[in-house]
Amino acid sequence: KARIFSGVQPSGTPTIGNYIGAMRGFVQLQDEYDATYCVVNQHAITVPQEPKRLKEMTRELAALYLAIGIDPNKSTIFVQSDVPAHTQSAWLILCHTGLGELERMTQYKDKAQKQEAVNAGLLAYPALMVGDIILHDAAYVPVGDDQRQHIELTRNFVDRFNNRYGDVLVKPEGIYPKAGARVMSLQDPMSKMSKSDANERGFVSMLDTPNQITKKIKSAVTDSIGEINYDKEAQPAIANLIEIYANLSDKSTDDIVQAYAGKGYGPFKTDLAELVVSVLEPIQTRYEKLLSSSELDDILHDGAIKANEQANQVLARMNKAIGIGY
Ligand code: ATP
Ligand code: MG
Repeated sequence: KARIFSGVQPSGTPTIGNYIGAMRGFVQLQDEYDATYCVVNQHAITVPQEPKRLKEMTRELAALYLAIGIDPNKSTIFVQSDVPAHTQSAWLILCHTGLGELERMTQYKDKAQKQEAVNAGLLAYPALMVGDIILHDAAYVPVGDDQRQHIELTRNFVDRFNNRYGDVLVKPEGIYPKAGARVMSLQDPMSKMSKSDANERGFVSMLDTPNQITKKIKSAVTDSIGEINYDKEAQPAIANLIEIYANLSDKSTDDIVQAYAGKGYGPFKTDLAELVVSVLEPIQTRYEKLLSSSELDDILHDGAIKANEQANQVLARMNKAIGIGY
């Protein structure tokens, strides 16, 4: 089986954007691939986090991985900080990465803009992500559209490293969902939905109550056209809601447009809210049970052992190639 790797940051509770764009795919891919999924808590501190909350969110995200259906008998689940090779490899990668390459990353520019003070980790972040991927010999990386540039950086790094030192690392490819690879904010259809958005009305989190979900969807921005069409140019906000609907119902965008022809936005939003609630409720029920169980800690403990074994092998290959050691 080919190996895949992916991760989510515990920088907030995952949103339906994370679910549609990445996490749902984690579940679908675990049968076909040898999958490793990581809670990348060391990525989260590239922007300020409250220490107590960061710890909680790390465990919560691991519980959510299981609640959506990632099966620890099929996939490896672990927390990044349990595997020191990740941060160790990041140093090696940084020393083989151009400053200009990092400065060109649009995620860096976007996130830097939103910070009062920017730490060097925010710029270096892609190097740690490269480490995450290559240490698990991943051939494929399922991610949302916003990670394309980082995957390209990873591929370029692997080429450069292998050209210089021989065939040391596996060159990965991104796997992006056909639709829903970029879910947009409910308050601004021009910016991506993000779990770290300061405006909570911009996203539906996977742990929002039915009441919160309904409120957020009903107050989602629309337009003054007042007619349901799937037109990303003229009606980007409605197009985004239609895409969320299509993704969570497996109906086509055409079906949805037809079903709401001549009905206005109200009934459409009501049904969308119901749909989102119906998808998230069973996940939330499983999540609550897992969070208070010792099973979760056992799974993370086992995952860390497996992940350390794998990652340390690749780190050793890298160190040997570079000439680190004596
Ligand atoms: P943050 O704002 O802290 O960066 P985030 O919502 O962007 O949070 P990440 O942990 O950075 O979440 O990304 C986890 C995964 O979710 C990645 O594969 C990413 O591509 C995907 N993803 C993030 N936002 C979206 C979105 N709006 N639509 C589709 N996929 C997304
Ligand atoms: Mg992100």
